[in-house]
Amino acid sequence: MKRTSRESMDHVAVDRRRFLSGALGACAMRPSLGLLSMQFAPSMSGSLTKEQRDSMTPSQVIDELKKGNERFRAGKMASRDYLAEKRSSASGQYPAAVILGCVDSRVPAEIIFDAGIGDLFSGRVAGNVVNDDMLGSMEFACAVSGAKVVLLLGHTACGAIKGAIDDVELGNLTGLLARIKPAIPRTKFEGEKSSKNPAYVDAVARTNVKLAIENTRRRSPVLEDLEKKGSIQITGAMYNLADGMVEFVG
Ligand SMILES: [Zn+2]
Repeated sequence: MKRTSRESMDHVAVDRRRFLSGALGACAMRPSLGLLSMQFAPSMSGSLTKEQRDSMTPSQVIDELKKGNERFRAGKMASRDYLAEKRSSASGQYPAAVILGCVDSRVPAEIIFDAGIGDLFSGRVAGNVVNDDMLGSMEFACAVSGAKVVLLLGHTACGAIKGAIDDVELGNLTGLLARIKPAIPRTKFEGEKSSKNPAYVDAVARTNVKLAIENTRRRSPVLEDLEKKGSIQITGAMYNLADGMVEFVG
């Protein structure tokens, strides 16, 4: 049982305390409110509380994401009670991060980071491209709701990246792929520059993540200001479909 001292403090909301009380019975007060009080993993208790989320720094949130991905890769995911998480988050949500990832069915953020209901905001669009609506969503997540991390998440073997390389034209997809294309000339790569070359596709995807980070800062003064104040961190990562590893690149 890891959800600890924060829930034992007097200022914890009564409702939330009720949900947590059973699990808390097993653990005594602990002196530290830092590392011990935070994790996406866990328990029979429920979702992240406001106190837990607010006690984390942006870098601690990133560490929790890394730990969650380690659990996923090791096949040692936290045992979850989704119904308890549903109940504990119904009256309020306090996600620690907002993740903008690809629609690819193999990259579900909550699963690869072993997070629960209420722990993460998750936005998905092919090629994890930044647009006005996604920026608005990320601004809501951080400036209104209090998330500490903006994570632009790309992945290997991305079909949208391949489509951009191949100049695919199809309905509204054409315009979406146009948002990815600036990453192509910005990618330094020795070797065959083709969608048939997995290493090249992944290199462009990595550049696409870096450009998404730049675009987020440039096009969202709200998020840029929060980052300058140290309230949030804007970063990027690449998810490897083959081994399940998330590598932070920002
Ligand atoms: Zn993709």
